[in-house]
Amino acid sequence: MKEELTRKFEERFHTAPVVYASAGRINLIGEHTDYNGGFVFPGAIDKVIMAAVAPNGTDRVRVFSVDINDYVEFGLDEADAPAQQWARYIFGVCREILKRGFTVKGFDAVFAGNIPLGAGLSSSAALESCFAFALNDMFNNNAIDKFELARIGQCTEHNYCGVNCGIMDQFASVMGKEGKLIRLDCRSMDYEYYPFAPEDYELVLLDSRVKHELVDSPYNKRRESCERVAARLGIDTLRDATMPMLNAIRSDISAEDYFRAKFVIEEKDRVLAVCDALNAGDYETVGRMMYETHRGLSQDYEVSCEELDFLNDVARDCGVTGSRIMGGGFGGCTINLVKKSLVDDFVKTAKDRFKEKYGHEPNVYPVVISDGARCVSR
Ligand code: ADP
Ligand code: MG
Repeated sequence: MKEELTRKFEERFHTAPVVYASAGRINLIGEHTDYNGGFVFPGAIDKVIMAAVAPNGTDRVRVFSVDINDYVEFGLDEADAPAQQWARYIFGVCREILKRGFTVKGFDAVFAGNIPLGAGLSSSAALESCFAFALNDMFNNNAIDKFELARIGQCTEHNYCGVNCGIMDQFASVMGKEGKLIRLDCRSMDYEYYPFAPEDYELVLLDSRVKHELVDSPYNKRRESCERVAARLGIDTLRDATMPMLNAIRSDISAEDYFRAKFVIEEKDRVLAVCDALNAGDYETVGRMMYETHRGLSQDYEVSCEELDFLNDVARDCGVTGSRIMGGGFGGCTINLVKKSLVDDFVKTAKDRFKEKYGHEPNVYPVVISDGARCVSR
């Protein structure tokens, strides 16, 4: 990809670019925990957005998207974002860097990627992180710290793309390291790297390609349940709750609120169990926690759907080590921790059985935990 982008850049702009990349991400465990002040456990993957970039000595930005085959130009002092969605991410990153008092000058860029769009792997975060990293390197001598680069991506989603997301996607895209997952504490923003380089296992995502509900309303209802229980317990977020605390108020709250809170409390404990397991290289325990998370998301938090439960059952039938919904639920992917010797059989079985039942095959994405934002020219 690097050579092709360089060639395309030189053909179009007639100078030599520097090439940057940033990654999509997975989240191993820790779902619906961010707004409860809990932990998430993401890592960057070997699927990236790559951009060839060079300053152009003007105050204009000129960008060509290879995958969309579209070209956009905008001035750095223009207030209005471009009409094209893909260009708004780049425009937003420029504005957010300038807003913080750092430098962006005119530049040319050609970019492409191999992260499936809208499949739950955060291609948009990779796009933001790639350009934020590039502009930090090119115009600011890397003075913006990496965490702030992630915030720049997050604020781009909020302010220019209408997506009110948390920090996890951009954080993982910027901070990811090969063979490491990152436990991020969504309350303190402290983070810690854990080894994830299993010799005998692979991570395989199965994308059901279904999306069931407008996610907003059920998502907000889950949040409200969590807030209600936290308020009843006299704490800020469920991060500070325990099962004995919850059981002590069980008769005062609705059954629905009880099970929502139970999931959140148990999920926090599962994340902590996974930390120990990863340090010990105990992937069987990691896998068991993934299945328990799926059960909790499906039965207690009620954010699964028939197709995802079906894929989870297929994984279990095939002897897959761990499997669960990845992301908010109601569709999207399952993430599966699979013994290498079982991968081919599992993928074939999942495709066949899913197609037989739902009329189409799931998309299959094997992923390897890899580096996040970086310069690939030097
Ligand atoms: P995701 O879950 O993958 O982040 P989003 O809808 O948030 O899904 O972001 C997808 C959007 O990001 C695309 O519609 C496009 O505007 C932009 N994007 C992602 N990858 C590329 C790419 N390779 N080329 C151009 N635009 C891209
Ligand atoms: Mg996105």
